[in-house]
Amino acid sequence: MPHELPKAYEPGAIEKRWADYWIQEKLFSVPTPPPGETRPVFTLLLPPPNVTGRLHMGHMLNQTQMDIVVRWHRMRGFITLWLPGTDHAGIATQMMVEKQLEKEGKKRREMGREKFVERVWEWKREYGGAILDQMKRLGASVDWDREYFTMDDDLSHAVREVFVRLYEEGLIYRGNYIVNWCPWHATAISDLEVKHEEVAGKLWEIRYPVVGTSEFITVATTRPETMLGDTAIAVNPKDERYTHLHGKKVLLPLMNREIPIITDELAQPEFGTGAVKVTPAHDPNDFEAGKRHKLPEINVMDEHAHMNQNAGAYAGLDRFEARKRVLHDLREQGFLVAEKDYTLAIGKCDRCGTIIEPRLSEQWFVKIKPLADRAREAVETDEITIVPENYRTIYLNWMNNIHDWCVSRQLWWGHRIPAWTCGSCKEVIVAREAPGNCPKCGSAKPEQVPDVLDTWFSSGLLPFTTLGWPEKTRDQAVFYPTTLLITAYEILFFWVARMIMFGCHFMQGHQQDHAIKKASGWAEKKNDSVPFREVYIHALVRDAERQKMSKTKGNVVDPLDVIERFGTDATRFTLAAMAAPGTDIAFNESRTEGYRAFANKIWNAARFMFMNVDRVEPGLRPADGRGVRTCTGVAGFQAVTLEDRWILSRFNRVAANVSDALATYRFHEAANSIYDFFWGEFCDWYLELIKPRLNFEGSEKSTAKIACTNLVNLFDASLRLLHPVMPFITEEIWQAIYEEKPALKSIALAPYPQADEKQVDLVAETEMAILQDLVVNIRNLRAELKIEPKTKVPIEVFAHEPEIRTMVEDNRGAVERLGNVEKITFVEHSLAKLAGSRSTARFDVHVIYERKIDVASECDRLKKELERLEKVIGTNQKQLDNPQFVGRAPQNVVEGVRKQQLELAILRDKTVSKLRELGCQ
Ligand SMILES: [Zn+2]
Ligand SMILES: [Zn+2]
Repeated sequence: MPHELPKAYEPGAIEKRWADYWIQEKLFSVPTPPPGETRPVFTLLLPPPNVTGRLHMGHMLNQTQMDIVVRWHRMRGFITLWLPGTDHAGIATQMMVEKQLEKEGKKRREMGREKFVERVWEWKREYGGAILDQMKRLGASVDWDREYFTMDDDLSHAVREVFVRLYEEGLIYRGNYIVNWCPWHATAISDLEVKHEEVAGKLWEIRYPVVGTSEFITVATTRPETMLGDTAIAVNPKDERYTHLHGKKVLLPLMNREIPIITDELAQPEFGTGAVKVTPAHDPNDFEAGKRHKLPEINVMDEHAHMNQNAGAYAGLDRFEARKRVLHDLREQGFLVAEKDYTLAIGKCDRCGTIIEPRLSEQWFVKIKPLADRAREAVETDEITIVPENYRTIYLNWMNNIHDWCVSRQLWWGHRIPAWTCGSCKEVIVAREAPGNCPKCGSAKPEQVPDVLDTWFSSGLLPFTTLGWPEKTRDQAVFYPTTLLITAYEILFFWVARMIMFGCHFMQGHQQDHAIKKASGWAEKKNDSVPFREVYIHALVRDAERQKMSKTKGNVVDPLDVIERFGTDATRFTLAAMAAPGTDIAFNESRTEGYRAFANKIWNAARFMFMNVDRVEPGLRPADGRGVRTCTGVAGFQAVTLEDRWILSRFNRVAANVSDALATYRFHEAANSIYDFFWGEFCDWYLELIKPRLNFEGSEKSTAKIACTNLVNLFDASLRLLHPVMPFITEEIWQAIYEEKPALKSIALAPYPQADEKQVDLVAETEMAILQDLVVNIRNLRAELKIEPKTKVPIEVFAHEPEIRTMVEDNRGAVERLGNVEKITFVEHSLAKLAGSRSTARFDVHVIYERKIDVASECDRLKKELERLEKVIGTNQKQLDNPQFVGRAPQNVVEGVRKQQLELAILRDKTVSKLRELGCQ
């Protein structure tokens, strides 16, 4: 039979097949809906992975959550667009290719800009698709027809347009400022790319002779080499210790330059000597003070933080070598007063770890305040919702304390700034296209500024540039604002905040198609310029011990490796089941192993179903899309018996739970309630309960047919319920149900089950709970009495109310089969005091069983048991006698062994006395 499932569940085989099928059939491609469309729309932008990226657990969690939400909406009838692409990742990609060149003995600068950039493109063409290929393997239901790269022509065109407009609006300016400079990368980097650390360092005190007196002024510094660029000494105007020196000069040691003593708030009397050195080119606060006092700015280092010609005798030295030499010379010449231990805060480049050097350089800045004001307002007024709520507060705080954004980078790979400088008159020309002649002096060759833009500049535009901006397109009318963004906290400011700023600015006045907006549930929102309606910030994936995963610790879990072993479905399920909002995930493979077993359980249940259906009524399976026509409740289900009414009720309740949970990003609740239903109720109880009805030797064929139909329809609905979390196994079984001729191409396009309140049956749920309770109690008693599985035993039941007795009588067969009961006798008196009994609020049950003991075999068993106990006790003792173990193993482990040892000793004594009692030899 073509539709027969293979005996064993092999995720590797089925997952690859369906992932390919979905792409080939273009199942998730979304053509632009024409005007007049009234269906709701759901749009989600994939946070574009770096083109250099490899899939890690963070991506895997992010992608799982996105795919669940996307599949869920698609099945609910939304026009669902998930837009994929990759980011050119300026600094990361450039570094990667530079390292490659290094191995070939080549250098970027020797190669020249044009050749280098061509080389990066080559690299991108060859390897840049790797991470998207990995996404394809995960079955991510994105629209591959709309895949973009941030340096595609149309997106680059949009970036230029944005830059020029901002410049024309006075929101971009160029200036000399102190920026965070990475000497290794030789580029400015943003505040966000600086990692701050506290380290043990030194504080040096240096004294400067006051000209024309015999006095000195002492200042303290952690970076003595910068003194070579000092252009003043500052004292506080109110500091009386220095009043008599106002207007005088000091002689800068080593450089023998005279520099003024200025009065400025920069110097605070309560700190140290109250006097500070002023180095405008190497410190942001000094820079501001320098501006106030019109001091010269002397830059003493080059782009690699080597001392330059302004550093006199120290020119050419690395900054740290220069520090040693400067200190040595100051000491020799009697200017070094003291050297003290000091904890200093240093900044390091987030990518290469080099210590940041504040550097004066010419950069391009975005004037952020006007943009930030509107971006803050969008969140304050809940035009954008940020979940979990605490990130909303973090966002708003940041927006209130934001600095202008340095957007230029001294790199070669990226969007080149559309600005040109005239070689003759120095005029700066910002334009959409390269200017021919200088508009000011007519000179022939303005040269383009060498800098490129910060990568986040272009990715901040994606919500509208991927929809055709600056053209006004139908795509924008339909899909903008996007509905949701799911992303990591670490890029809340880099990316999320910038998207909000740019969206609110450039899409101002935009209106989403009214009918679609209304159908999608956003009618009450006024502001359609926002890039998305909601932001969900997902948690971190940590290792099983809750440690952050890091290469240095060697505890990084590779998602592809986990997938290889347990399947994508089980891996996705693990991440969903552990993803409570706001809680980091301690990823534990044993959970994934458990969810693989879950998939296996479903697989076996499907095989059981097919076996019975084929036997009862070959061809019963709906080949025409039956069961798919309606998405409410379970179609085609006839609730005949208690178990039918019960499972139907439970299904509808679970469907309601799952929808509630998914709507509020409680992925763990959605996953866990499907799990409990599918395994705990459907497989463990319902399948067992309907077995006799399927076995038509013993029942009417019409009864069997109804049971089969119910089973198939319920299975179909349950698969649809599970599909967003486990897309592959559900597709495989669903296709088999429809004998590969379904009315729809995929379960992914079938409707998502919605709860039907009319199918909720509280009476059935209560009655079933009592039956389950009874069976479970019988099973527990059997286990306690050590009754062999094949032995059937009689029981007595005392029902506290007559209705319960009637109900148990009606389901006598089920209790007998599931509890392995020989006969049920109803009594009218309490059984609570008897050995081998249990009582609940509704009934007492007594298992009638007298243990007949075969002395010889019992002796055998006891002897074996004693042997086993001795062995474990011996092993434990060896461990406890070993000081290495006791000293080094975690305390709770050692305690555990001790405790076990005590319990084992008691068991051993009991076994020995039983052996004696029985007179065993
Ligand atoms: Zn760096
Ligand atoms: Zn000119």
